[in-house]
Amino acid sequence: MLDRPPEFYFPAPRRQQFCSQCGTPVSLAVPPGDNRLRDLCHSCGAIHYQNPRMVVGSIPLWQDRVLLCLRAIEPRRATWTLPAGFMELAETTRQGAARETLEEAGAEVSIGELYTVIDIPQADQVHFFFLAQASSPALDPGPESLAARYFALDEIPWEQLSFHSVVSTLQHFVADAAAGHFPTRHLSLGS
Ligand code: ZN
Repeated sequence: MLDRPPEFYFPAPRRQQFCSQCGTPVSLAVPPGDNRLRDLCHSCGAIHYQNPRMVVGSIPLWQDRVLLCLRAIEPRRATWTLPAGFMELAETTRQGAARETLEEAGAEVSIGELYTVIDIPQADQVHFFFLAQASSPALDPGPESLAARYFALDEIPWEQLSFHSVVSTLQHFVADAAAGHFPTRHLSLGS
């Protein structure tokens, strides 16, 4: 046992060593009737499926300005992002987007239409961004953010954005804002 608490981290890759049901070491094998390798427990029979994670976020607006957060955590610390994060159990995508926006920026928003759905197969993730309207300009960045502020669309710090999905979503948003029409888009990122 460690005599002090460990520094918690997010394990990757996602192989697991032990069965979460009975504690036996698992092995990688194709279950009967399946066609992929899975973490199998040969003691209790549990099949530990791994599936993509969903990231939910918003594009919060206040008077034609878009809210970005300066990340306080890795990866991509000290770069700007739309408020977004991993969806939690027992919530909807819209609830998750509103929760992340409140947690990361302290912004109360009304979540609107789905704007981008972004497949990122090499990261085993799907990102969902919703249009959102802030109910006031008040911000109160949480511990995951160094700062939060609203940017005019011609002020967006393109060279300092966190993730391809954020860049792509904002590029479409700026183009759509010029046209005054915001259709839902399904995108795929290869890198
Ligand atoms: Zn087991």
